[in-house]
Amino acid sequence: MGFCNLSELDRAASDALSEIAAESGVDVKECYQCGKCAAGCPVAASADVDCRGVIRLLQIGDVDRVLTLQMPWLCLGCGVCLARCPQSIDLPALNTAICRYEMKRGIAAEREGEAFMNIFLDNVEAKGVSDETMLAMRYNLQTGHLFQDVANSPRMLSRGLLSGNGYKPAGGPDVKRIVHDIRAGEGGTK
Ligand code: SF4
Ligand code: SF4
Repeated sequence: MGFCNLSELDRAASDALSEIAAESGVDVKECYQCGKCAAGCPVAASADVDCRGVIRLLQIGDVDRVLTLQMPWLCLGCGVCLARCPQSIDLPALNTAICRYEMKRGIAAEREGEAFMNIFLDNVEAKGVSDETMLAMRYNLQTGHLFQDVANSPRMLSRGLLSGNGYKPAGGPDVKRIVHDIRAGEGGTK
């Protein structure tokens, strides 16, 4: 983060920890590292550090390392960790707070994750439903993965997985309004 000396580093790390704690409502000191969260997390095996590791790094104040992790961006918000945690620590909220902290400062550790989230939300805000065709096209163009879905496209088309354009869900206008209001309330995530 480009700090000059230890006291500045301590202050910056402390400010970051306070902001992430305030936004998530999580007190990292309450975690006793039992690992029940990571044992049930569906993305732990694919992540650089699992959810227990994220909270451990915050406990020791290693904010710089936390802000380079993929894990907060990979979090699905499924809540399995929260359901298993004997301390009811809200790890999905913690991961979201870390991502927001990074986005606010333009230091998102996982640029492709940020790009995917923004394109997905643009999509749902505009249509009230996820349009997978548009999502894949915009994401692949923006991230430079131009041909990554070409091989799968025929199969996805045959199964109707790329037909989001024509689908109009009953609650679409409500979904649009809700997503719009949330994003406006956050000052925008774009
Ligand atoms: S389950 Fe809860 S207490 Fe145990 S390591 Fe995970 S967050 Fe910490
Ligand atoms: S909410 Fe996130 S961290 Fe928790 S189990 Fe699901 S994917 Fe893992």
